[in-house]
Amino acid sequence: MSCAKCNVAFANPNDGAQCSKCDQRFHAACCRIRTAQNLKTMKSKQASTWCCDTCATDESVGLIGMLTSLKTDIAATRKENSDNFTSLKASISSVEESIKDITKRLTDIEMENKKLKQECDALNTENKIKSEKIFDLQCDVHELQQYTRRSNIEIKGVPKTKEENIYIILEAVAEVIGVQYSRSYISIAHRVNGKQNPIIVQFTSRSMQAEWLAAAKGKRINTRDLRISLESASIYINEHLTAHNKSVLMAAKTLIREHRLAFAWSQGGRIMVRRTAEEKAVRVMFISDVENAALPPRQHDRAGESAEMLRDSRGHPSRTSSSNTP
Ligand SMILES: [Zn+2]
Ligand SMILES: [Zn+2]
Repeated sequence: MSCAKCNVAFANPNDGAQCSKCDQRFHAACCRIRTAQNLKTMKSKQASTWCCDTCATDESVGLIGMLTSLKTDIAATRKENSDNFTSLKASISSVEESIKDITKRLTDIEMENKKLKQECDALNTENKIKSEKIFDLQCDVHELQQYTRRSNIEIKGVPKTKEENIYIILEAVAEVIGVQYSRSYISIAHRVNGKQNPIIVQFTSRSMQAEWLAAAKGKRINTRDLRISLESASIYINEHLTAHNKSVLMAAKTLIREHRLAFAWSQGGRIMVRRTAEEKAVRVMFISDVENAALPPRQHDRAGESAEMLRDSRGHPSRTSSSNTP
């Protein structure tokens, strides 16, 4: 066995250092061990792992290569992490901005909403006041419309003929009910559109209107009684009600038929009802008032019957009874 470096044979085969990789032997002086003392130390501590200069160089090159690539990897990873972190920071910052923006917008919306709610409340209050005012005005309008008819009567049932003279008809009616007639008592008289074209008479005074209504009250008048020739028909003389008051009176009469009211009539342009013969009369201005004044549906039958009987025996307390209207 000789030294792989100087080729000189070893005096003893165990002399020198043996490489754990290539198995070749070297004199201490022919490799990096250099001294016998170093060789002794090496043999006592790392004889089984020691490498010759050549193998050690190969190994460290590999190790360095590995470390270098590891370093590159770490650097790349660090850069990547750093990039990721930067972009994460940017994302968080942008999310923060968005949240700030959304919070601001939400606050704005909340404030606007609060303002709108206040406005809405104010409008509701105002609307309520206006509704009440409108209702009052509506009542005033109904009253006024009826007031303009205070000197009027409405005569229903007189058959319409060609070239009729309304004033001749009125004179004949006056004769039958027993009131004085003069053309000068009447401002104007004419037929109006509607069922059977009723005749509206406007007197020059309210007292004349009252006189005709009082005279006609309770009388059953027929065209046969007139001294003019007309086909036979019943004639009804009533206050000249507004369309609104007519609808209220009609509603009341419907409830009489249902035995929920005892009486309904008009008096001085006002619609009055009595729930039962015993109860006092109340004024109704709207259809809803009629419903409120009436007995509730169903539990009315007995009261209705007694009212009906009383009405038959005692007649009606008003100038325009429900039986004097078609
Ligand atoms: Zn040697
Ligand atoms: Zn070796």
